[in-house]
Amino acid sequence: MTAYNGYITDETIEGADDGPLAAKTVAVKDNISTEGVRTTCGSAMLDEYVPPYDATVVERLKDAGATIPGKTNMDEFGMGTTTETSAFGPVENPVAEGRVPGGSSGGSAAVVAAGDADLALGSDTGGSIRCPAAFCGVVGIKPTYGLVSRYGLVAYANSLEQIGPIAPTVEDAAELLDVIAGPDEHDATTQEAPDADGSYAAAADGDVDGLSIGVPTELLDGADEEVVETFWTALDDLEAQGASYHEVDLPSVEHAVEAYYVIAMSEASSNLARFDGVRYGQSGGYDGNWNDSFANAREEGFGEEVKRRILLGTYALSAGYHDKYYKKAQDARAWVKQDFDEALEDADVLASPTMPVPPMERGESLDDPLTMYLADANTTPVNLANLPAISVPAGETDTGLPVGLQLVGPAFGEREIIRAGSALA
Ligand code: GLN
Repeated sequence: MTAYNGYITDETIEGADDGPLAAKTVAVKDNISTEGVRTTCGSAMLDEYVPPYDATVVERLKDAGATIPGKTNMDEFGMGTTTETSAFGPVENPVAEGRVPGGSSGGSAAVVAAGDADLALGSDTGGSIRCPAAFCGVVGIKPTYGLVSRYGLVAYANSLEQIGPIAPTVEDAAELLDVIAGPDEHDATTQEAPDADGSYAAAADGDVDGLSIGVPTELLDGADEEVVETFWTALDDLEAQGASYHEVDLPSVEHAVEAYYVIAMSEASSNLARFDGVRYGQSGGYDGNWNDSFANAREEGFGEEVKRRILLGTYALSAGYHDKYYKKAQDARAWVKQDFDEALEDADVLASPTMPVPPMERGESLDDPLTMYLADANTTPVNLANLPAISVPAGETDTGLPVGLQLVGPAFGEREIIRAGSALA
């Protein structure tokens, strides 16, 4: 166990004797299924759940020779931005005392930042790889929707999420992406990238000469002053290496957080229906009434944030309100996608701060879910548009808090964001 509570389970899983990751340890977020090793999703509901099969990404890690040192701590079912909603206790930020590590893949970013694993896998529904990478001063990639198999990932919001790498450098993250990317017969949403030949790691050559960067002004508005300063310093660094930048407009992103939370909660309310103590989860007992039994299991097994989201998602999908909330959110999603596509016609990549704020103080956001949701302003639009994005360390605030720079690329443009990001980290 680590002092900062990075792992929920620290059981070692050995991979093949050789392969591209034979010398590496790769920690795995605890919502990714590992055969014979419990997979809790940070929830009391799945405290004792041991999957009978490996997620496709875990199979690929093992085939590549990786050693999995354990399952990392996370916000319950991936719902959070600070890794404080885990039933196994909060994770501390190993590089910023008293601060949160970001979430929901906070354990994965923390073990990499602390050097307790070489690499890690996280999952990103609305920023959960990029946010903790930014807050812990490491690199995180959220792949294009469909590049990486979700088979064996316990679903939070299927239409938004992807598994992706967290690593100390862009090249390391790209090496891990090489291992996990590619179609999977168990996940019909996966597809072959148009440029599937060749490795992502080879794209990490740091060459940004002639790169055109679009900066969406909307993603700087309202961000913390020091974060914005650090962001511009990193952009100047890219400019000095031959890149150029211009401002772009993404008017729709104003509605992205609202649309994201309506869609994510709606999908969550449906996905989490299976945790009733009969199909999955801790039993709620039975004294002649199954409704009571299900209610007991869910009352005891789920934490507050998860309950809040199931209730709101059920409401948004209910017959009388479906058109007012869910359908509207889908319209906003289409608009966000269109804005990104247009902005990417005149730019190779888009750049913004990954998070509008530096890592929050521990405990600060727990009583204020709305403020926590708003911290996802820059990451959630990318999931709505199903695009790839990377967070790389941009520098630090005056008080030494890590700041991340986010680069967004066109669909299956992983190589572009990897190349650009590798000029900084
Ligand atoms: N913070 C966002 C949420 O709570 C993102 C979570 C995620 O990407 N899993 O939904």
